[in-house]
Amino acid sequence: MAENRVTKDKAAQAPDWSDVKKALVIVPHPDDAEFAFGGTAIQMARQGIEITYMILTNGDKGNHNPLITRNQLILMRKEEQREAAALCGVRHVIFMDEEDGFLQPTPALRKRVVREIRRIRPELIMCFNPDRYLVGDSYINHPDHRNAGLVALEAIFPAADNPMFYPDLIDEGYPPHKISQLYVAGHPEPNVVVDITEEMETKIQAILCHKSQFPNPAEAQKRWRERWGEEQPDGTVRYFERFKGMRFR
Ligand SMILES: [Zn+2]
Repeated sequence: MAENRVTKDKAAQAPDWSDVKKALVIVPHPDDAEFAFGGTAIQMARQGIEITYMILTNGDKGNHNPLITRNQLILMRKEEQREAAALCGVRHVIFMDEEDGFLQPTPALRKRVVREIRRIRPELIMCFNPDRYLVGDSYINHPDHRNAGLVALEAIFPAADNPMFYPDLIDEGYPPHKISQLYVAGHPEPNVVVDITEEMETKIQAILCHKSQFPNPAEAQKRWRERWGEEQPDGTVRYFERFKGMRFR
């Protein structure tokens, strides 16, 4: 019986953060963390987990208003991202300042990400699925999303915990670090399900902190509520974030 239950539940486990003191979210753009991990981050922060957002690009393509310069946009989006993080209880935001739209998994960026992983020393990292080219029937996944996933995974393995990688970082005071859990968003076979129904309002407010991205916030949040709500057998509507979770020993 017990075995049956384990097998049946395997596709839908609740998260286990008993060993997590710090979590690192690695995403390409300001607002990605809120969309993919916002509810989870709010829940973790409430439990005392120290969260860092690492935003890989400067977000300088996220605007169609010709009156705003590129540098103004970069500053604006950083401010929006800090505000959104604060609303969720996320303590730190790191901007890696790669160019928006051209993110590549270069050896140089991998090293910068490894330095941060070794400095922060999170038990859990959350990132995007690098294999996701198409989303649903009407969206080509942004190449930065795929490449951000690659950058994160290639930094985690085989580099972050291997002393043969970047011995100069060890000299700098950043010894190897092995994470114990990984959450990948946008994976076709999620096995961790976080019920974020209680956090949904705050998640939406956090996304809407990115004012430069949502000229019509009322319409946008109506659409998200409809699209993300999942009706339960008892008739109630609940909200979830789903990840492919992995554990390392
Ligand atoms: Zn994005």
